[in-house]
Amino acid sequence: MMDGSYEYLSGSATIPATAPEQWKKGEIHEFYARPNDQEWGEKLCRVLFHESLHFWQFLSSGYIASLVAEDWEHLVHFEKKGEIKPYSEKLKNFRVKQNFAFSSYNLVECIARYWDVHTRNANKIIEKEKIEIDKNKVYAADMGLSTPVYTEHAFDTVMQFGEDCQLYAEPYRWMLKQSKNDSYFTNSVFPAIASFAFLTEKPVEVFCESFSMALKSNKLKKKLNDVGRKSRMQIHAAWYESYHDVLEIVSETVNYMSLPKLKLGIDIIGEQLQSHPIFKEFPTKITNMLGNIKFDSVTVTLPPYSQHILQMAISDLHVVFTFFGEPDFRYYLGRALHPPKIIFQNFTIFANRPVQTKLAKFFNSTTKGDDYGDNYEKHYVELEDRIKNFRNAQAKDAYEISKDHLKK
Ligand SMILES: [Zn+2]
Repeated sequence: MMDGSYEYLSGSATIPATAPEQWKKGEIHEFYARPNDQEWGEKLCRVLFHESLHFWQFLSSGYIASLVAEDWEHLVHFEKKGEIKPYSEKLKNFRVKQNFAFSSYNLVECIARYWDVHTRNANKIIEKEKIEIDKNKVYAADMGLSTPVYTEHAFDTVMQFGEDCQLYAEPYRWMLKQSKNDSYFTNSVFPAIASFAFLTEKPVEVFCESFSMALKSNKLKKKLNDVGRKSRMQIHAAWYESYHDVLEIVSETVNYMSLPKLKLGIDIIGEQLQSHPIFKEFPTKITNMLGNIKFDSVTVTLPPYSQHILQMAISDLHVVFTFFGEPDFRYYLGRALHPPKIIFQNFTIFANRPVQTKLAKFFNSTTKGDDYGDNYEKHYVELEDRIKNFRNAQAKDAYEISKDHLKK
């Protein structure tokens, strides 16, 4: 069985499962609206969502996008000069633990796992991955809903001891240890601290320092306790209530460490990936998506906190990129910004190009080179050849950021 994978340099995801026929006709947004639907099966949910998260991390994180931009720059250099440049220390160290218990790569995987577990049911994952549980703890609570709700013990177990846990567990274990097993605090602040940390040049340092600072903030603790008192299940409310406090804490850390200002992945795309035939169009696609959030916000069935978060998202794109797994955001991201190429076992789909490029083509038919049709299918034929030539010329043990593989 082939592994699931995501290739950073091309934005192409490979999913070792068959997809429903209707997705071929552009209905893949159904998946992001209902990722747990029985109809898709287990594997599709896990792998497609996981690899989509990696693509969204690239769009959101200035750090990850800058690694991709470096790899791309080396490809372009190779094509022009016929030589392979050595990678920077920053790129070579992506998977290396330095003075910390985990690497940047481990933190990337921890974020992906976190949203994956929020999206699926933690107790189902325990069952599926046959994770050992502590018989003295409560894993499921009856909250009067159709299925019992998983508890923080269930969530913490899955984050630390599931399949492939050597990839993602260490940052989570570290947070629990630092907070003296305060799972509620950890889960409330983790997404925002991690996503802000990835807007910097030193994600692991900024993450660890900011988490330690957050633990010392009485203002933040009080706020989270107030939310938590109403209901422990209000994790969504806890995320949004703490978002601005966390931003403040991370900004202070960045100042204190004298790091350059925070950058989104799409900032880097605008600056360094304008010669990439596919990624260069994503800033426009993101602008279009934000327009649709505004337009659609009254048409989606919203839980009470959602009107508020959609308002936040319209004025601050990074809100969407911090809470990828929030059902509304997952839906908008999946519909407008799924990975540009997704290879399923039974067919391959390509993202549509932004409508502006089609209009420009219509009004300016003399434009050459960009005239590639409505989706990215033709772009990929050429791009994949270029990447293949570049990889073949690199030493066999050369480091590539371009690898994310799920074992199962
Ligand atoms: Zn991964």
